[in-house]
Amino acid sequence: MPTQHDSFESFGFKPQILRGVTDAGFVTPSPIQSEAMPYILEGRDLIAQAQTGTGKTAAFGLPAMNRIEQTDRVEMLVITPTRELATQVSDELFKLGRFAGVKTVTVYGGQSSYRQVDLISRGAQVVVATPGRLLDLLSSGRLKNFEPTIVILDEADEMLDMGFLDDIKEIFKFLPKERQTLMFSATMPAPIKELAGRILRDPVSVKVTPAEETANKDIFQQYYVIEEHERDDAILRLFDAEEPSKSIIFTRTKKEAERLSTMLIAKGYGAKGLHGDMEQKSREEVIKGFKSNQLDILVATDVAARGLDVKDVSHVFNYHIPFDPESYVHRIGRTGRAGKKGIAVTLVTPLEYKELQRIKKIAGADIRQESVPTLGDVKKAHSGKLVSAVLNARLNDDAQRILTVLEEQIDVQQLALKALSLLIEKQNITGPDSIGVNPQRLEKLLNDHRRDRPSKRGGAKGGGYSKFKRNGGFGGGDRGGGGNYRGNRTRSRRDDR
Ligand code: AMP
Repeated sequence: MPTQHDSFESFGFKPQILRGVTDAGFVTPSPIQSEAMPYILEGRDLIAQAQTGTGKTAAFGLPAMNRIEQTDRVEMLVITPTRELATQVSDELFKLGRFAGVKTVTVYGGQSSYRQVDLISRGAQVVVATPGRLLDLLSSGRLKNFEPTIVILDEADEMLDMGFLDDIKEIFKFLPKERQTLMFSATMPAPIKELAGRILRDPVSVKVTPAEETANKDIFQQYYVIEEHERDDAILRLFDAEEPSKSIIFTRTKKEAERLSTMLIAKGYGAKGLHGDMEQKSREEVIKGFKSNQLDILVATDVAARGLDVKDVSHVFNYHIPFDPESYVHRIGRTGRAGKKGIAVTLVTPLEYKELQRIKKIAGADIRQESVPTLGDVKKAHSGKLVSAVLNARLNDDAQRILTVLEEQIDVQQLALKALSLLIEKQNITGPDSIGVNPQRLEKLLNDHRRDRPSKRGGAKGGGYSKFKRNGGFGGGDRGGGGNYRGNRTRSRRDDR
């Protein structure tokens, strides 16, 4: 059994790789990372049960990039079912491997393969590819000296669903026998187990253990489906709509905690970040301020909030979906304490939707979908509150004095309108009118996604496709794009987005 790792330093990565980790803002390894990385570093073959959102890309990417030897040939191959995932994986590897000088080429179907082959031959160590195009390049003999020593099959069960299994088996015929093979899959249906038996050698299996604790019944749990770029707008809108008295927003990284708290302060909220890099003294000050209501919002990373015990937290917001059911349960458990009711809000993109369903199932959580209120809704609700506030306001002596002055200069109705306008302006409710993906559209996205998967590859070059873009919106398929080169010296224009 590997030991639990609380920091990335403890794995013994090369300094250049660690720099990528720090620069990305990662502080604590996610469960799948601390389980899988030691084995991969040892050179073992591995089967891991994990899906998007759990930190799986770094779980294989960091140790694999740490192991490659920085030659000018391909040493690492990642096979992903869709073009979107290929792009996402390639972005993540670029982010984490750039200080180590790792160059990555993304290969998927559609465009002329000339450029892709050319980029690979210019000295990339990592290729991220979809099965169709990769098989075309291999079987036509256009990839010379293609002998990756580490091969990663990402989302293997998706490959099966999309009818790529035969292609995958075929691809492995072209790969060197002496290699390290890693397989990531959210589920393990029989054909995937059978495939694992063929392509892996004495593999270790890792799986993040499900949460035993289930969520507290006093917590009302909601989720909002939004596009990736709408996270800040959604948080601000929910604050305007719900007016939480005391809340914690969870982020994945310290950088994000800092950015978000700065943004909230700029918008006039009493917010502060809380993360593991802060000195003990300033952490204690922030917690004290939060407990004594000098601060309304704490923007915290999981580690920093570990064990945080504040009794009257009204809302917990998950800015991103947490890595696993345990952290979900832990995060939302910061509210609904001491017999009080609490609200837990999770923002998810259509891409993260599946992971949310998994968390729901494992944590036994009842999380309901809600729609982000429109600007109009919030304004209307606030007008209602304003009406009762005005009706219930106690008269102030200064007001009487100012009225005497104003009455001589302006008609009373005009005066009332102006005074109300000032109050409304103070509420400062802004942002786009509507935010998020409504249930009907989400349903359509999910249905289209299912329908678009060919059950057999049916001769289509370039593989199957998903309509999800990385940002959760609608995109093209695996057939439509070209290749990308991600490297230190050259970064070509991305032609897929
Ligand atoms: P993945 O499951 O690979 O799609 O990763 C989901 C997201 O989590 C990506 O945006 C990663 O950059 C981010 N991520 C991965 N590992 C960590 C970590 N240890 N700490 C913070 N963020 C992470």
